[in-house]
This record gives sequence, structure tokens and C-alpha cells, in this order.
Amino acid sequence: MKLSEIQFQQAVTQMKRAKAFPGNLYSKKYADIDLDSIKTQEDFENLPFTEKDELREVYPLGIQAVPDEEIVRIHSSSGTTGTPVIIPYTRKDVEDWALMFARCYEMAGITKNDRIHITPGYGLWTAGIGFQFGCEKLGAMAIPMGPGNTDKQLKMMIDLKSTVLCATSSYALLLAEEIEKRGIRDQICLKKGVIGSERWGDTMRRRIANELGVELYDIYGLTEIYGPGIGISCSKDSPMHIWDDYVYLEIIDPKTGKVLPDGENGEIVITTLVKEGAPLIRYRTHDLSRIVPGDCACGSKYPRIDRIFGRSDDMIKVKGVNIYPGQIEDVLKMIEGVSSEYQVMIDHIQGKDVMTLFFETDLGYSKKALEEAVQDEFKKRIGLTIVPKSVAIGELPRSEKKSHRVFDNRY
Ligand code: ZN
Repeated sequence: MKLSEIQFQQAVTQMKRAKAFPGNLYSKKYADIDLDSIKTQEDFENLPFTEKDELREVYPLGIQAVPDEEIVRIHSSSGTTGTPVIIPYTRKDVEDWALMFARCYEMAGITKNDRIHITPGYGLWTAGIGFQFGCEKLGAMAIPMGPGNTDKQLKMMIDLKSTVLCATSSYALLLAEEIEKRGIRDQICLKKGVIGSERWGDTMRRRIANELGVELYDIYGLTEIYGPGIGISCSKDSPMHIWDDYVYLEIIDPKTGKVLPDGENGEIVITTLVKEGAPLIRYRTHDLSRIVPGDCACGSKYPRIDRIFGRSDDMIKVKGVNIYPGQIEDVLKMIEGVSSEYQVMIDHIQGKDVMTLFFETDLGYSKKALEEAVQDEFKKRIGLTIVPKSVAIGELPRSEKKSHRVFDNRY
């Protein structure tokens, strides 16, 4: 995706302002960079990335790029892996975010007449409050539930006739299952679900859609860049449109850092274009997707990215092919008789990388036939010939973490 003239000017203005603000992360990061020499897309693409660890290092407010009196709010990303990241917002940032979010609702066909049931958490996290402000900006009725308390969720959903459910995929599934279990589906008025874009499989998607009887939309965003609401899918199963008047997206090879052509899978890198409180330049999200080339049938000119299919931290490279755990799961899902449990061993044997994929198979299937099917499908979809090994159900160790399924013995 090319930077338009206006995006380019906006990005340069952001960089200069951040660099000039005393104590800001970029005043040090760009100390030796002459920003007046950034004249072309290529110059821009040679600028260093901004990493989440750098934001942690300047905790709490080293990313702030305006005087204190202009800051009206802060949000924070979860601190589960160490120091949290604090993002300060100006009045305009808060307003811009609400406008983007309202645009998301409109893209999903949601109107003032809708009643939006908001289950993501409120507080330091950007989720709940983003859904709320967008809803109010649109003029719909917000039902600010927050997470938990299923009894109350369902009571409000029925009594207030909620028409839109905003949730994470796992919480949407939990509610769908409860509704099914209690046999109250005919009292539920939901028509649409707006689901925070994390990696979630088609099986889960179908279950939520069917059990709730709703159309699902994926919404994208991250705390460091406003929060959820910088893009959304326009119809069932479609890619997500991104609001490129607020953010500029690049897709890079996570290993080399090179910008990839449109259509190729890689890591999303985001530059904010008009953010005041905490501008970020070439911020590595570690989310994996691709830019979807061409125009959308819906007529919107906003560029599109595919659903997020994983995290670049989980990527493995075998014989020059980038492989993500999500892709392995997708291959296994295609084949009847194969369960979702798997384990990968990568070895270097006689000068060559060899990837062995162990997977569990249901009783009553021919192991040899399934191995052939997995090998074919893997070659077809990912472009790599693997050594398939079928094992019985229950033979592989169970682990919560995807990374524990991949053993790289090459190094
Ligand atoms: Zn569209």
C-alpha cells in the first residue's frame, strides 16, 4: 500500500512534533535522523520500527507528545508480560476514536435504532469504553454491561431487547451456549455480533453465528493505537476495512523487516497519522494478516486486511517458508478423522530442514490414508513437503500454549 501525499505529510508532521517534544521517546530515537531528509516512501520505509518494549522502557508517560494540560485520559495495555504500556489521549484523540468506532458500527449496518449490549471490560483497558463512545457517537442505545454475571447479561438482553452483541469470541460463545442450554433463544432479539479480532477459528464462528442467529463482524484495533475500532469487516466473512485517514498500515516480513507487496502474509505495522497524545511511527503489532488487493464489492474505498491469523512471535521458518501455528491448525481441520491436537518437530538432517508433524487421529480411520491426506493438503496450502506421523487420540501431551507444540531442534 502506498503512502498518499496527504498521509506522507501527516506522518512527517507527527514525527517532527514527537521528536521535538522534550523527553518523548522519539526525541532520543530520532536524535540522529534528519527528518527533513525523509522525502520518499523509501525513506519512510528505512525509518526504524517502534517496538512495544520501547514503550515499556519509557513507562509511564514517555510516549506523551503534548503538554499535560492537553491530556484528558489515559489507557493501558495489560501488564501480564511485565511493565504495562500507558497511552495518553487528548480530547481530539478521544473524539477521533469515537468517530472511527461509529464508522465501524455503520459499516456493520448498525443504526440509531439498535441497542448495543457491550460486554468487554471497562477501565484501563480500551475495549468497553471504545464500544461505548462509538455507540453514543452513532446515537444508538448503549447497554454498558462489562463482562461476567451471565444471569444478569441474559436478563438484560431479554428485557431490553438488545440487538447487537459486542464481545470477545470466547465470551460470545459462552453466552451462545448458555442461551442454547436454557432454551431461551426465542426471547433473544440479537441480529448482529461485533467481535474483537483475535484469532478464532471458523468452527467457533459458525457456532456463535448459528446459536445466536446473528451476523458476525470482526473489529480490529489495539490499545497502543487508539483501541478497537480502527477497522471492521463490511459483511459476513469479509476482510476488514481499515480507516486509512487515521492510520497507515504496512505488512512486513517479521524476520527481515522488509515491506511486503500487497496480498502477501506478514506482520502488521501501523503509523498513526493524526494522533496528538501519543503518536506512534511504524509500530510493530506482531499481528499477522495481509493487505487484500483490489476493490471491495461493498463499494467502500477504505483498504482491507484479512482476518488476523496469528502472532509473528509464533512464526517458524522451514526451508525458506514461513509457517504459523494457525495455518497448521487450518490444514488439520480440513481433514476428516484428524483431531486438532498436533506437535511439530523440526530437525536439520544431512544438510536439510525436515519438518515432522505428529497429529492425533480418530479410531476407525486408516493411518496411512490420513498421513497422505495431511501431507498433500500441507503441500497444497503452505507449499512445504512434511513428514506426517499419525498417532492415536490422547497420545500427544496437552498444552494451553501453542508454542509448546513446536520443537525446533535445529539450533
Ligand atoms: Zn467492503
